[in-house]
Amino acid sequence: MSRSPREVVVCAPMDGRVVPLQGVPDPAFAQGLVGAGVAIDPVGELVVAPCAGVLRRSGHAHAFTVETEAGDVLVHVGIDTVALAGEGFTVLREDGSRVDAGDEILRLDLDHLAHRAPSLVSPVLALGVAERSLTDLCHTGIVRRGAPLYRMTVAAESAAATGSAELQVRRARVRGEHGLHARPAAELVGILRGLRADVWVSVHGKRADARSITALMALGTAQGDEVLLEAAGDDAGVALDALSACFDPPVSKCETPRAVAELPGQLAALVAVRGVAAGPACRWVAHQWSFPLASGDYTAEIRRLDEALAAVTLQLAGEAQPLKGARRDILEAHAAMLADPALRESAVGRVRLGDGAARAWATACESMASRLRQSPDRRMAERAADLADVSQRVLVHLLGAPPVTAIPDGSIVVADELLPSQLLALDPARVGAVVTARGGTTAHAAILAAGLGLPMLVAAGETLLAVPDGEWLIVDAEQGHVEVGPTDERRREFASVCALREERLRAARAAVHAPVTLADGESVCVECNLGRATEAKAAAAGGAEGVGLLRTEFLFLERTSAPDTSEQQAEYAAVTEAFAGRPVTIRILDAGGDKPLPFVSLPREDNPALGLRGLRTGLAYPELLSNQLKALAATPGEVRVLLPMVNDVTELRQVRAMLAEAGRTLPLGVMIETPASVLLADSLAAEADFFSIGSNDLAQYVLAIDRLHPTLGSSLDGLHPAVLRAMQTASLAARRAGKPVAVCGGLAADPDAIPLLVGMGIRELSVAAAAVAEVKAAVRGLDPLACAQLLADAAHAPDAATVRARVREFRALFDEVSA
Ligand code: PEP
Ligand code: MG
Repeated sequence: MSRSPREVVVCAPMDGRVVPLQGVPDPAFAQGLVGAGVAIDPVGELVVAPCAGVLRRSGHAHAFTVETEAGDVLVHVGIDTVALAGEGFTVLREDGSRVDAGDEILRLDLDHLAHRAPSLVSPVLALGVAERSLTDLCHTGIVRRGAPLYRMTVAAESAAATGSAELQVRRARVRGEHGLHARPAAELVGILRGLRADVWVSVHGKRADARSITALMALGTAQGDEVLLEAAGDDAGVALDALSACFDPPVSKCETPRAVAELPGQLAALVAVRGVAAGPACRWVAHQWSFPLASGDYTAEIRRLDEALAAVTLQLAGEAQPLKGARRDILEAHAAMLADPALRESAVGRVRLGDGAARAWATACESMASRLRQSPDRRMAERAADLADVSQRVLVHLLGAPPVTAIPDGSIVVADELLPSQLLALDPARVGAVVTARGGTTAHAAILAAGLGLPMLVAAGETLLAVPDGEWLIVDAEQGHVEVGPTDERRREFASVCALREERLRAARAAVHAPVTLADGESVCVECNLGRATEAKAAAAGGAEGVGLLRTEFLFLERTSAPDTSEQQAEYAAVTEAFAGRPVTIRILDAGGDKPLPFVSLPREDNPALGLRGLRTGLAYPELLSNQLKALAATPGEVRVLLPMVNDVTELRQVRAMLAEAGRTLPLGVMIETPASVLLADSLAAEADFFSIGSNDLAQYVLAIDRLHPTLGSSLDGLHPAVLRAMQTASLAARRAGKPVAVCGGLAADPDAIPLLVGMGIRELSVAAAAVAEVKAAVRGLDPLACAQLLADAAHAPDAATVRARVREFRALFDEVSA
């Protein structure tokens, strides 16, 4: 294969004495298992970049790599320094930043390190040396920072997977005391050398190419972590056998079907689309592409890539054109991703380095997707699946369509993560439900599943992938769990629950426009929560009595400049128009550390939930807030303004003054989401025009459980007696002051919470548009006095589980009486 070599000069990252690799007191480095190069025994405290490229730091500060056009260069300070967990190192540059040769990366506390580490000799290595050659190697002598150590040239084509596209998986546990740091990672890479297989290691929701030491180190594994090993290609089985020998056996294995007794009985998950279903599991395995060897003709490869990009752009436009709503929005977002010049540039760069168009495109997309996955902003991280989708479309164009996974009728589709296009390929009439190990509730696949009325659970965890094909599953996307391998009796019992639910749903939908009154005749208003203006018309037609919460983030996130006043006003007006005459509560932008704004350089938060978010962001960037208030003041219709994350009246007064400057008096309400707002509810009620309880955040802050926590998040229950008491306090304060109080968090649609909310005097509930009919049905006919008694009892219960059990008894009795 012909190719013009790229060359990178690797310079000394520190002052010191050059030591040949064989002299490094560590066999993996000395035998060249990690890579080729030299080492330096440092005498200075500063460590600089050995060449230009992108900086990748390992989990601890002791090592870093610089990604260059000709491959990755590793600087590993000292031997066994991973054990110091960063002690003795001061990090001077952020992970992921672009660096030039000589840029300062680390400062060393040499005294500390000399006492703690067995040796300070620091290898400076070209990784994956079998594929590249080094020249002008400096073997000995004293060097200063920046002096050339060697030249490295571009990698040759690595062993590509061919043949079988079937993905084989194994589970294993990380053995080494410090996880997959440089040496164990090098061992894995060495084992795979020469094998024709694409191999990945996944853990903590991250996936690394097992041939890349840098990527393996960046996984940040620790001893005992359970990883998923995946391989595709002719030698997939051999590769997995060889790799497995470097790990400990898993607690459970997934490649062989197991007895039901060994499977997890129940898995907690997040509800993305409500519903229930039961059926045999059908594992959706993502297609693993085999890339043909590059032709060696750059111009032809780049032309093929450009043709594919143009064809897919047309295809997306054609598919979007007849659609409306979320499906159209998603295809347009995919078209925008496809048009991103950075993506093409990155792929073209790889073609110039010798990759074929398909491999270059796939790698460019995966590299950008993995950066997105690491974003602290959940919504950004969820866009990685969209990028994967865009990548697949182009690969289909370049390589042909992959075989379609056959899904037996009535199956529960089980997947690691589903892309929007894969979700749309499912026939909702033939699939019972979808459950994914990863993913989030606001991912586009979840939005599309909601549109199809397909129950969906996400974030069930990797244990889900241990469920073999055909194993029976009960999916409860009301309570948020999957039952694995239920008994025949449990299956029969659940079938009658499903039938009953279907019946109720039909009745609720038929009565959606009927009034909602309690047993004493008092009305309850059921409104909807909206995340986009385009959803307004359908929600208004679907029986929502107003908008209790318009989350305006949709207008501000995923764009490079703030929307101006007129653009905002047009979006808000589209909602008020759809709800003509009915109230529309528009929440001030709730962004910040948890949902970063690309056009504002917000500080990076160590703890976004407790950082600059909600109204605090607006007050910190008054222009952003005052523009939004101006847009709201100019919006026709029954607009109410809602403030997120308020702690006290001072914040409320500041916004009221700004609203007055905007020139219109609008009702101004506060969200009750923080413990401070509960404790000061009486003073807030005296000045606010209304309250809206954000039970999602209130539960998070009262219980001190991060709502996005990967393991604790799904067990966060707003029916905890502490949260009930907090809501009760706020509700009482509002009613004493004669101010309306609504609930707009997830509890408002939780059938177990509804009697308790009625019991605390809540007469306004705002829920997802799809839940309006069911919530109305759950409220109708409730006896407020009996609900108040239930609440009094629940507020003294020991925990959330007890509260739920008591409410269920109450509901069963209510159903019996009303039947
Ligand atoms: C809440 O916290 O309950 C709420 C409605 O706001 P969000 O979910 O948008 O944070
Ligand atoms: Mg909130």
